[in-house]
Amino acid sequence: MGIRVGTGFDAHRFAEGRKLILGGVEIPFELGLEAHSDGDVAVHALMDALLGAAGLPDIGRLFPDNDPAYEGACSLELLKRVMSLLREKGFGLGNADIVLICQKPRLAGYIDSMREAVSGALGCDPGLVGIKATTTEHMGFTGRGEGIAAQAAVLIEII
Ligand code: MG
Repeated sequence: MGIRVGTGFDAHRFAEGRKLILGGVEIPFELGLEAHSDGDVAVHALMDALLGAAGLPDIGRLFPDNDPAYEGACSLELLKRVMSLLREKGFGLGNADIVLICQKPRLAGYIDSMREAVSGALGCDPGLVGIKATTTEHMGFTGRGEGIAAQAAVLIEII
């Protein structure tokens, strides 16, 4: 079978005094996301989807959050390394699709920039990367504005 599917999920809580980085793009907002790295939930979910599809260890094992090497790490740089690992195993990206889940801020104006940034790190055409944002109609932890969640699905193929 030449194609494989993967899914990933991540969530981080809002914190003061941090930049909000989503899909590799800095979003103007009064809060950022608490994390050992830059807290880019969209890219974290995407990396776990890619690694899962390839049968590789998840990001918690590849980039441990108690390792000072990843303090403040740029998630897009980690994504480049994940994609390199996949290529070493003989996989190429079919497509990726990411959903960002948050009540605030509004992300519609940043989706195209995120697709450019993420596809740049993956080394693929932006047309292979879907990114969308949804609220949860004020329900649950994202609906209460406690943080942001993301889920991702990918298809990879043996090349
Ligand atoms: Mg994370």
